[in-house]
Amino acid sequence: MTLSPPFKRLVVASHNEGKVREIRDLLTPFGVETLSAAELNLPEPDETEDSFSGNARLKALAAAKASGLPALSDDSGLAVDALGGAPGIYAARWAELPKREGSGRDFNMAMWHVHDQMQQKGGPKTARFICALCMGFPNGDNRIYEGKVEGEIIWPPRGDKGFGYDPVFQALGDRYTFAEIDPATKHAKSHRADAFAKFIAAEFQPS
Ligand code: IMP
Repeated sequence: MTLSPPFKRLVVASHNEGKVREIRDLLTPFGVETLSAAELNLPEPDETEDSFSGNARLKALAAAKASGLPALSDDSGLAVDALGGAPGIYAARWAELPKREGSGRDFNMAMWHVHDQMQQKGGPKTARFICALCMGFPNGDNRIYEGKVEGEIIWPPRGDKGFGYDPVFQALGDRYTFAEIDPATKHAKSHRADAFAKFIAAEFQPS
């Protein structure tokens, strides 16, 4: 059965290059033309909600209203059990450099921070990546799709593919981190792919 998108153009409501690349890889086989929020010079809204789904909704609706096009956003993060689910929705913020060192993000620093906190607190190494995708429309309609992948934090970091916390995350039963596997292999099991499968099943029509 072939599934067809209900739209030909879609804004990927993210300024994170790694996420935009992965969402494009997932959408391209369906013949959807994607424009990123950065390419359209859309402002990046503040993530003021306290959940993945809340922040995903806020980003999708901001992009849909500003562009007049349907928009797909992604809010995601890493939840470490020994840290009570941190960094969670603050995964990107743990990588933010102090103002005095200029703007930008340093995920090496963020991964060390996770490691240090885990050393201090002890407990299991179990963790999961969580992703909330939101399909939003200029009229305010929106729908959320959530996905996750279970795994553990490994140390030291390994691999140079992927982005963010990929070098310290290994999915359950795997011998390689997300930064050591090809994009196609990550797409077969990631939190984003899990949410994406639900998005496709609900939004695309059989043709
Ligand atoms: P936000 O959704 O823009 O708040 O940022 C989510 C952050 O979570 C990203 O900047 C990454 O640090 C992390 N993250 C989300 N998904 C992934 C992934 O697939 N691999 C590695 N890190 C991720």
